[in-house]
Amino acid sequence: MTVHMEKTLPLFMETIRKIKSYEEALGVLYWDLRTGAPRKGMDARSEAIGNLSGDMFKLQTSEELGANLADLERPEAFAQLSEIEQRLVTETRKDYDRSVKIPPKLYQEYVVLAAQSENKWEEAKANNDYAAFQPYLEKVIDYTQQFIDLWGAKATRYDTLLDQYEPGMTTAELDRVFGGLREQLVPLVSAIAESPHKPDTSFLQQTFSKAAQKDYSLFILGQMGYDFEAGRLDESVHPFATGLNPGDVRITTRYLENDVTSALFGTIHEGGHALYEQNIMSELIGTPLCTGTSMGIHESQSRFWENVIGRSKPFWERYYADLQQRFPGQLTVPVDSFYSATNVVEPSLIRIEADELTYNLHIIIRYEIEKLIFNGGAKASELPEIWNAKYKEYLGVEPASNAEGVLQDVHWSGGMFGYFPSYSLGNMYAAQIADTMERELPDFWSLVGRGELHPIKDWLTERIYKYGKLRTPSELINAVTGKSLDSSYLVRYLENKYKQIYKL
Ligand code: ZN
Repeated sequence: MTVHMEKTLPLFMETIRKIKSYEEALGVLYWDLRTGAPRKGMDARSEAIGNLSGDMFKLQTSEELGANLADLERPEAFAQLSEIEQRLVTETRKDYDRSVKIPPKLYQEYVVLAAQSENKWEEAKANNDYAAFQPYLEKVIDYTQQFIDLWGAKATRYDTLLDQYEPGMTTAELDRVFGGLREQLVPLVSAIAESPHKPDTSFLQQTFSKAAQKDYSLFILGQMGYDFEAGRLDESVHPFATGLNPGDVRITTRYLENDVTSALFGTIHEGGHALYEQNIMSELIGTPLCTGTSMGIHESQSRFWENVIGRSKPFWERYYADLQQRFPGQLTVPVDSFYSATNVVEPSLIRIEADELTYNLHIIIRYEIEKLIFNGGAKASELPEIWNAKYKEYLGVEPASNAEGVLQDVHWSGGMFGYFPSYSLGNMYAAQIADTMERELPDFWSLVGRGELHPIKDWLTERIYKYGKLRTPSELINAVTGKSLDSSYLVRYLENKYKQIYKL
């Protein structure tokens, strides 16, 4: 190690650890805000968040960090770094460039605009008034276009946006996997719509005690191997998971008296996110690598637990009796009926209410529209019409209003373009990983049927969780499954499941 590097490396590590400390502090403040912080403290809290974020940004964009990075990137210095240190340098460089390329004034204008635009969106959605929101959306798109210019367009302009959430993902790859998915799923959805066999869901229309739902949520998390000494379960309007560090990964859920499935599957979903964050190797703690490697891989873990495991028949053959016990006299239908009812497929207008199958088509529609905006020059004024036509074509439903159409999601109002694909990527990764697991873990489905879920958690820890951000999404999926992302696993999984339920 050169004399030079002996100084630089500790300085670099000190800065990135300090940035991580700011992140943890901000994470606790946000968690607190979303889980019942007193309303009267909001203004002061916002100021505290603003000040801490500002200080963190200064650290992230400091000249000193830039100089240390450049020093460590010299080939002779880089070669002497450990694998973890090398990834830290590469990752920090990426974040650094993203931040310093946007002039502070432009960024501040954008932050103000995004906040206004989100407010306008909320109003416009409530009033079904797209025209009132359109000028704000136009500006948000315009700023995003400027950011793409400053960051530099990749193979296509939209690729630059995708890379923020799914490093390395491209429009070319998404066209390939989403194209395959759309071609197979559209006919499956219409076949299901025409099937005379419809699962009976009427028994779900009852009032289910919130206390019993909470008790069951805690029970299931324990079964999954969620470590309650390294986390806690709370309530919030929109369920989420927040990983402060592997020893403190908190989740929330939502108990609805008239819909027992909301907390049931919501808790398992967030529990899946939490298992990932609780099981990252200790060597990465306090560094930017101590988190999931991408939004898509993170979502694959929540959806693996929620859908592949939690909506499977073996799972309910083991756990239905426990659920029945908590709601005496209420769940009298046999387990098969419960399984079918919680897997009902119905083409609908609203993404967040969609089932496991049609959900992917909601995402493909958003992906195609975002691509049209950034690669095809589609105007904000054209979006309602494009939206409605795609819903008709892929799902066979047509929004009667923009409120239940193009205005339904918050993402675009705040400039989150490129995020939607993560949800379906999660489904595809999950199915591909499950296929490998079925082959490598002897008796996989018998384990689920016996409620022995720990070997499954351990398998995922060894191949995915422990690496945090040490491996990129494509490195990870290749290492785990021996193949790059392939939509046919998800298609096969969905076909097997729904052909049986709907007797196709
Ligand atoms: Zn999620």
